[in-house]
Amino acid sequence: MGLEEYKRKRRFEETPEPPPKVEKKIGHRFVVQKHRASHLHYDFRLEMEGVLKSWAVPKGPSLDPADKRLAMQVEDHPVSYFDFEGIIPEGNYGAGTVMVWDVGTWEPLSPQTVEGKYVPGTAAEASAMLKKGDLKIRLHGERLKGDFAMIHMKGRRPGSKGTEWLLIKKHDDSVVAGYDINEFDTSVLSGRTMVQIGGDEGSAEWESNRAAAKGKSKAPWLADTLAKLDKKKSGTKDSANRKPTISAKAGANGKSSATVSTTKKAALTGKSKKKA
Ligand code: MN
Repeated sequence: MGLEEYKRKRRFEETPEPPPKVEKKIGHRFVVQKHRASHLHYDFRLEMEGVLKSWAVPKGPSLDPADKRLAMQVEDHPVSYFDFEGIIPEGNYGAGTVMVWDVGTWEPLSPQTVEGKYVPGTAAEASAMLKKGDLKIRLHGERLKGDFAMIHMKGRRPGSKGTEWLLIKKHDDSVVAGYDINEFDTSVLSGRTMVQIGGDEGSAEWESNRAAAKGKSKAPWLADTLAKLDKKKSGTKDSANRKPTISAKAGANGKSSATVSTTKKAALTGKSKKKA
């Protein structure tokens, strides 16, 4: 797909979203961004072929195999979009609040199972399966774990644009029957809720946290991302009035980023450092 469509839809002088750029180094991270635009949805993105292959999932992913989630394929996004969290200004494409709901790495699974179980495959197999419309992946996220299938619904519905896929959890140890996505309403990067990211909450609480924000981040692997988010938030306005930093919140509630596993840190940091 490339990034032409991404570029066409955006005015980069007006949106804080990153510019289009195809990466030469291929990584295997994934991100789920909760996006309150005209309709609330979750953007599911797989780093693949130097871009983020992207789907909008209205109900969000589920760890219950009984849930077959509609996933509308949208334009490829640049890899630098990976940790985008913030506000897309009104009047721009996708205007609204974006939260990083989950991050991690993914593995392609081979189309051939071994004794009924999925086994790791290659990047080439993943590309072929994506093209074929039957992609099997294994996710290692903070919230999403285990094997998933992505099935392209090849224009079965009249009037379909051919962008409809299903995202389905496969049976394995990470299944959660009756999974409720609403139980997880904070950013895995900053610990913030959608309201906090959107800046609708009283600034008093935030102001009181400012001192703590000056302290060291408890998750050094996130320093780049946090600094970037902080910079975006502060803008050109008087810094005394600016919204509180991410690290303050993460420190205040004592969870969020601190719960990220060590292996994941290594995997994610390596990649995000390069583009910084
Ligand atoms: Mn979206």
